[in-house]
Amino acid sequence: MAKRKMPNISARFGSRYGSTLRKRWNIIMIKKTMRYECPQCMHKKLEWISVGVWRCRKCGFKIAGGAYEPFLSRKIR
Ligand SMILES: [Zn+2]
Repeated sequence: MAKRKMPNISARFGSRYGSTLRKRWNIIMIKKTMRYECPQCMHKKLEWISVGVWRCRKCGFKIAGGAYEPFLSRKIR
């Protein structure tokens, strides 16, 4: 199986701000725009509204979670 590459959405910055900052920004933005599983209706519709606030598009359920990902279970580099 081929290794899946992370989309490089920080390419818009060109060579500015340094590679480490661009990489970290990229990881955060991908996590932020991802859809997560809603703890109430179990649909993958949980979306980011603002820092620490997440809402489900299906049932309107709103939770406070991590700043850029709703559940801080996975390890962050
Ligand atoms: Zn829901």
